[in-house]
Amino acid sequence: MHHATICVHGGAEPHAETGALNMPIYQTSTYVQDSPGQPRLYDYARAGNPTRTAAEEALALLEGGACAYSFASGLAAAQVAIQLLDQGSHVLVCEDVYGGSGRLFTDIMARYGLEFDFIDMAEPQAIAAAIKDNTRMLWIESPTNPLLHLVDIRAAVEIAAPRAITTVVDNTFASPVFQSPLALGADVVLHSTTKYMGGHSDMIGGALIVNRDDLAARIKFLQFAAGAIPSPFESFLLARSVRTLHLRMQRHQENALRIAQALEHSGRFAAVIYPGLPSHPQHALAKKQMRGFGGIISLRVHGGQAAAEDFFQKLRLFKLAESLGGVESLVNHPETMTHASVPLARRQQLGIDGGLIRLSVGIEHCDDLLADLGVG
Ligand SMILES: *Cc1c(COP(=O)(O)O)cnc(C)c1O
Repeated sequence: MHHATICVHGGAEPHAETGALNMPIYQTSTYVQDSPGQPRLYDYARAGNPTRTAAEEALALLEGGACAYSFASGLAAAQVAIQLLDQGSHVLVCEDVYGGSGRLFTDIMARYGLEFDFIDMAEPQAIAAAIKDNTRMLWIESPTNPLLHLVDIRAAVEIAAPRAITTVVDNTFASPVFQSPLALGADVVLHSTTKYMGGHSDMIGGALIVNRDDLAARIKFLQFAAGAIPSPFESFLLARSVRTLHLRMQRHQENALRIAQALEHSGRFAAVIYPGLPSHPQHALAKKQMRGFGGIISLRVHGGQAAAEDFFQKLRLFKLAESLGGVESLVNHPETMTHASVPLARRQQLGIDGGLIRLSVGIEHCDDLLADLGVG
């Protein structure tokens, strides 16, 4: 089935008893049992909830996975992915990983006997060169936040899989509509469902999607035993939002491509970074690995932070805020906002400075967005 159809129908069977077209919000902590130790479908809501199951079924179908597990946030999902590892394991992380993921690794998980190395994964050989005897996981984000670097997922898996290294791909930026990491060989797909999956800037959530039975069993256990589950209401919002994911992603990408072209054409910026532009150094990989280029554009202004602030002042539709992936257009200053938690030395090395701006292009009429940006 096509993604557009899966979005509308995935996990959405009418309710057996009432015929309700949509899965109700099961606001319950427990379930009655007919005899001791004989629950019907569910026994306790940390372990399972029908509203959550509906959302998870939709996510699994969209990613082409056997199972999906949802969590209270993207970072709660990331924490569980790391908890698949035993003490003493080494993880290779792409260097411009989401700042919150990097902080989780170095400030929390490294205290529990895990090692993390952040490396440039643009060349797959760099991954092979950095592998150590105790390397157990590759942590890939593609495209990355905010510099929109890509990692060749298939090439990375070809290095990792023969060495029994688990490949995790954070697919938040691309969404399952534009990229299918499991089909490229990855073992675990991660989403911050807060972003495109939720799509309306009104919920926080995360998910892990897998095909391997061993990983599924362990993640299900961690979801239940460590307990970072989403609420029934968040699960309802997620299942509901997925219905329009395909439609929204199409418009995000249509608008972003047109805007990126107009911004580049204007000649007013030091750089316009968008995987859909031929000027993007990994444009060919984007065309090969993705079905669309997404809705995020990064820009470098001439004149550093002062020029960036001047740019923000002129915007009316693009709201200055953290986060991304909602129906409304947002603008963000990574250096002082989303990426302030990234150590200064790494920010400088990556090129996240005062003149860098990230746009999350919404689904408004493109002409209005172009006019807001002064290139209409
Ligand atoms: C936002 C984000 C996360 C973290 O998700 P939360 O839902 O905020 O916990 C992880 N990865 C990427 C790429 C993100 O953009």
